Amino acid sequence: MQDYLAGLNERQREAVLHINGPLMIIAGAGSGKTKVLTTRIAHLMATGVDAFNILALTFTNKAAREMKERVERILGNNEARNLYIGTFHSVFARILRAEAHRIGYPNSFTIYDTDDAKSVVKTVINEMQLDEKLYKPATVYNRISSAKNALVTPAEYANDYYIQQEDIRGNRPAIAKIYDAYCKRCFKNGAMDFDDLLLKFYELLKTFPDVLSKYQHKFRYIMIDEYQDTNPAQYEIVKLLGAMNENVCVVGDDAQSIYSFRGATIQNILQFQKDYDDVKVVKLEQNYRSTQNIIHVANEVIRNNKAQIPKVLFTENASGEKIKIVRTMTDNDEGKFVADTIQEQKLRNHYANKDFAILYRTNAQSRAFEESLRRMNIPYTMYGGISFYQRKEIKDFVAYLRLIVNKKDEEALKRIINYPVRGIGKTTIDKILLQANTHNITMWEMLENADRFGFRAGTLNVIQDFVVMIRSFTSMLEKQNAYDVAFHVGKQTNLVKELFNDKSTEGLQRYENIQELLNSIKEWVESPDNEEGEVVDKSLGAYLQQITLLTDADNKDPDADTVKLMTIHAAKGLEFACVFAAGLEEMLFPNAMSINTREELEEERRLFYVVVTRAKKKLWITYANTRYKFGSLVQNEPSRFIDELPADYVDSTYAGGGTKQSTFGFGSTGSAYERMSGGWSSTGFDAGKKFGPPPAKKTTPEYLSPKPEAKKVADHTPSADFQASDVNDIAVGQRVEHQKFGFGEVLKLEGNQHNKMAIIRFDQNGEKKILLNYARLRIL
Ligand code: ATP
Ligand code: MG
Repeated sequence: MQDYLAGLNERQREAVLHINGPLMIIAGAGSGKTKVLTTRIAHLMATGVDAFNILALTFTNKAAREMKERVERILGNNEARNLYIGTFHSVFARILRAEAHRIGYPNSFTIYDTDDAKSVVKTVINEMQLDEKLYKPATVYNRISSAKNALVTPAEYANDYYIQQEDIRGNRPAIAKIYDAYCKRCFKNGAMDFDDLLLKFYELLKTFPDVLSKYQHKFRYIMIDEYQDTNPAQYEIVKLLGAMNENVCVVGDDAQSIYSFRGATIQNILQFQKDYDDVKVVKLEQNYRSTQNIIHVANEVIRNNKAQIPKVLFTENASGEKIKIVRTMTDNDEGKFVADTIQEQKLRNHYANKDFAILYRTNAQSRAFEESLRRMNIPYTMYGGISFYQRKEIKDFVAYLRLIVNKKDEEALKRIINYPVRGIGKTTIDKILLQANTHNITMWEMLENADRFGFRAGTLNVIQDFVVMIRSFTSMLEKQNAYDVAFHVGKQTNLVKELFNDKSTEGLQRYENIQELLNSIKEWVESPDNEEGEVVDKSLGAYLQQITLLTDADNKDPDADTVKLMTIHAAKGLEFACVFAAGLEEMLFPNAMSINTREELEEERRLFYVVVTRAKKKLWITYANTRYKFGSLVQNEPSRFIDELPADYVDSTYAGGGTKQSTFGFGSTGSAYERMSGGWSSTGFDAGKKFGPPPAKKTTPEYLSPKPEAKKVADHTPSADFQASDVNDIAVGQRVEHQKFGFGEVLKLEGNQHNKMAIIRFDQNGEKKILLNYARLRIL
C-alpha cells in the first residue's frame, strides 16, 4: 500500500479510493475531511489523472495553497501546480478572464472590491437623487449582494412580491431600481464585483453550451471542501460543471455551517444526495485533533441544536485537561489574563508562540489582546485587520494600474484623476461625470474628448496632459511586464517621490508600503511558469486580478512563530495546540444581532462548536464582567453557551481584575457607576477566589440525560412582542418593559444616535444603563 494510504483509517481510505461517481463526506470537526480531500487529489494524480483535469475549491486561498503543498509532498513532484485549486472566486475569475468577451465584458475586466462596489452604489443613489440616510450604501449593497448570491436578477428582484414587501417595510422601495442601475453601471465600467464572479460565471455556463461543455470536459474531477458554507450560486455552478462526469466529491460538516448570513445554506448538503443517482456517503467518526475532554464538550454543545444531521464523534487521544472557564472583571483584564497565561504556558510546557490562538466573535475585541501581548513582548499576528491592499496609498497606486488596463474603470479614474493634485477640482470632476452620463459615454471617453465640452483652457490643458500620460502607460502594456509598467508609473506620476518627500512617520510608512507593493509585483513576475511549459500570464491585468482576490490572511506567513489573533469565522478549518475562546458574554457571543430567531441562535452555537473544536490540547473560555462597547462601559452576563458545558469537564476560575477595583469603587456602596449599572453585589465580587460555575448559572452534570433545551433557548429568545426598541421613540418618564429586567421607568437618556443609552429604574431590579440599540424593550 502506498504510504499516503497507510496513514488513513479504513473509512478515510474508502473515501480516497472511491474515484468515480459522486461522493459526500459529512463528518464532525477534526475527523480528517480536509486530509481525505487532499489525499484524494494526490491519489487521483498517482493513478494517472492529469492535474489539469482536477478542480478543487476551498474556502480560502491559504487553504488552497496548503493543499497544493501537501499534494506536492505526497507525490514528491511539482505536478500539483497544474491543479485548478483555489477559492470559488479566484478560480472563476481566472476562467472569466479567458471567456468574459462572451458576455460582453472586456477580458481585462476590473474586479471591484467591497469598497469600490459600495462607492458605485453610492454614486447611483446620488444620481437617482435618493436620500442617502434612508438608502445607506452599505445596506443597499448588502441587499444587492444577497440577491446575487441567490441568483436573483434585477428583474426578478423587482417582480418578487416578498422581496418588494420587505423593501417597502424597510422604507426602501427603490432598491430594485438601484440594483438594476448598479448592474448597468458596473457593466459600463467593465467591472465585476465579488458576487459577479459567481453570477457571471453561472450565466456564462448557462448561456453558452459550448463553454459549459468545454469546462465539463476539462474538470473531470471536482472537489469541494467546507461544502456546508456554499451558497445557491456556488451550488448551481457545481451542479452544471459536474453534470457530465458526475465525479463530484464534497466534504463538510453541517455543525460548522457559519455563513448563512451570507446566503450559505446547508440545504446544499441535503440536496446533494438527491441530485445524483448513486451518491456514496462516507461518515468519519474518529477525531484526530483534540483531547477527549474537548471532543466531549464539543459534542455536548452541539446537542443543543435542533437542526442537525446526527453524527458521532469520538477520539482515541488522551483525555487531556478540563476546559477552563475564566471570568475577569474587564476586557482589559481578560487581555491580561490571556497574555499572562501564554507566558506561563510557554515557560511551563515549552509551547511556542505559534501554538496559541486567541479567537473571538468580533474584530473589535482584538484591541485588549494586542495591548497586553505587546506589553509582554509576545509576538503576534492579527488577521482581519485592514488588509495591505486596502490601504489608501496602495489603493491609489493600484488605481493607476487598473485604469491603464481598463479605461472604463470609473472608480479607479475618480480616485486618481486629481492625485497627485494636478488641478482638476471637484466641480470639474462632477461636470465630467454629469456629461458622461448625459451622453452615455464613459468618464474616460469624456476626458479624451474634453476639447468639445467647453472646459476652461487651463483645465483643458491639465486634462489633456493626464490623458496623454495614461495612454503612454497603456502603450507599455504589450511589451513590458507588470513590474516594469508599475515601476514606470510610480516614477512618472511622481507618486513615489511625493511619498518619499513626506518625512512624517506615516509618510515613511506609506513610502515603505509602496516599495513593498513594487517588490511583490517583481516577485510575482519572477515566479516560475507552470510545468507543462504553459506560460503563465504575467501581464498587469493578471496581477491585478489576483491581488483583488487576496485576503488579509494571504499576506501573512502562517508558519511564523507568533500568537494568532482572529475571528472564529476566520479560524474555520484551522487547528492550534492551545485556544482561547474569548468574550463568551451574552450580547457578544451569542451576538445581539443574532438572537432573534432559533435559526440565528443555532448558527451562533455552531460558531461556538467551531471555536471549541479548533483546540488540540488546551482550551480556555474567557469572559469579562464589563467591557467597552462603542466608547462606553457595559455590563455583561456570561454567555448562555457557558451554561451548556458539562460541569464535570470544566474548571471555573476568576482571574482577577483588581486594578479596576479602585477605579470604580467596588466594595464601597453607591458609586455613580455602580448605581447606573445595577451594582456588583449580585455577581459576588471575590477577587482571586476560586469559585464554581458562574453565579446563578447551572450546568448539567449528567451529560447523557436528555436536555430540556427547547425551553432554555426559548427563555432567551425574545418573544415577538419584544422588538428592538426604536431609539427615536423613547422618552424620559416613559414606562417600558425589558425582557429580562421587567417593568421600569426611563430616568435619563444619553449618548448619540448610534450609541443611545437610557438609564432605567426597574421596579424589581434597580437602575440599569441600557444600550438602546441592543436592548429588547417594549414601550408601554
Ligand atoms: P475541520 O472540520 O475542522 O475542517 P477536518 O475534518 O477537515 O476538520 P483535518 O483538518 O483534515 O480535519 O484533520 C484534523 C487533524 O487530524 C489534522 O491534524 C490531521 O492531520 C489529523 N488526522 C486526520 N486523519 C488522521 C489519521 N488517519 N491519522 C492521523 N492523523 C490524522
Ligand atoms: Mg477541514
